[in-house]
Parts: sequence; C-alpha cells; structure tokens
Amino acid sequence: MEQPIELKLDFTDCPNCHSTRRLAEEATKFMKKKGWALEDFTYYTHIIQGTPTDKRVFSKIPIGSSIPIIWAGMDICLDCGTVYAVRVASSKAQLTIGTPGKLPPDFKTSEN
Ligand SMILES: [Zn+2]
Repeated sequence: MEQPIELKLDFTDCPNCHSTRRLAEEATKFMKKKGWALEDFTYYTHIIQGTPTDKRVFSKIPIGSSIPIIWAGMDICLDCGTVYAVRVASSKAQLTIGTPGKLPPDFKTSEN
C-alpha cells in the first residue's frame, strides 16, 4: 500500500541574496552564548504545519489510515528581509478520532 512521503530538507541560505544570516538563528546564537539555550536548540520565527485535507471527502478516510503531515520552520533573512523555509519536512500519522493536522509527539524537526 502506498505511504505518504517522508522527507526532511534544510536550506542553508537565502533564496534571494544567498546570505546565511537569519533573524531567529542570530537571536538563538546569543541565547546559547549566554547559556540560556542548549547547543542543539533550534528556533524559528514561525512554523507552518498541517495535513492536506479535502473536507468534502475527509470523513471517508478509514480510521487508522496513514495520512501525510507537512511542516515548515521559517526564518527571515537579515540582509534582504526575505521570509523563507529553513527546514521543511513531511511525515505520516495514523488517522485517529480527533483533530488532524498535529505532528505526532515523536516527530523530530530539529537536530536533537
Ligand atoms: Zn536575503
């Protein structure tokens, strides 16, 4: 049976100007230098996540089916202001009774 795609991609520089300086990342470096964040801590200006659901047919998906979950950690370029995805990931979750669109607890999005 076909399964949702699982991937994790990192983008190291701005797609507009190729700078590697980013707002959240620079702020996080300060926190690490002060000892107020651990070395493996990652922070994003915002996170986008969800599962692609077509509400017209979602109720027809059997409970227990694997459904895709998508995730993107965003940051802002300090040299040109472009907002872009630093990390994108896709995983799968078992459909249960409840609200879809949340990442499973063991879904890792940082290097830790
Ligand atoms: Zn830039």
